[in-house]
Amino acid sequence: MSGAPFIGVLALQGDVREHVGALTRLGADSAPVRALEQLDACDGLVIPGGESTTMSRLARIDGWFEPLRSLRAAGVPMFGSCAGMIMLADQVLDARPDQETVGGLDVVVRRNAFGRQVDSFEMDVDMPVLGERPFHAVFIRAPWVESVGQGVEVLAEISAGERAGTIVAVRQGPVLATSFHPELTPDDRVHRYFVDMVESRVERSRGSA
Ligand code: GLN
Repeated sequence: MSGAPFIGVLALQGDVREHVGALTRLGADSAPVRALEQLDACDGLVIPGGESTTMSRLARIDGWFEPLRSLRAAGVPMFGSCAGMIMLADQVLDARPDQETVGGLDVVVRRNAFGRQVDSFEMDVDMPVLGERPFHAVFIRAPWVESVGQGVEVLAEISAGERAGTIVAVRQGPVLATSFHPELTPDDRVHRYFVDMVESRVERSRGSA
């Protein structure tokens, strides 16, 4: 079918089903990606939340890193939430020594950054690309973005309280990442934003074909 783009959700580990659900509700064609061959069909790819050290280990064992890097280098849009953000970061603080990432996002992220007392919390964040209404964000042992390189757009920061100014959503060209889990709340605006990124790339490449 030439209509809906195919957006795969990397299914090594994590909350795959929730992302597939959100994308499908928005009219995208979406399915878990469990085999390397499926990557060829992806117009976009989500790396879900979960546990980045486990994801990294499974990716290494089954040889996912190179194909994922090639997909990214080809400009296929990718969206990482939480552990997925860690997987897309060029540099990770408080990583396990053997932890590897796909990279592509010129940021330094810190794993489990919010600390034990506030393991998990929910908070409204302003994310102007989604419109004026704040986004209700769910954080679960979340990373934060400690610094960003040139060319990285900061899409959301914590706006109030002790952690005001902490960066929790970023985009660098075709790579989008959030510290929080938009797949766990009914507000679909982050997924909509990603589907739009995928659709505009598909349209551009059709136009130039
Ligand atoms: N703390 C996890 C990690 O390091 C991320 C948690 C999450 O994805 N909810 O991968």
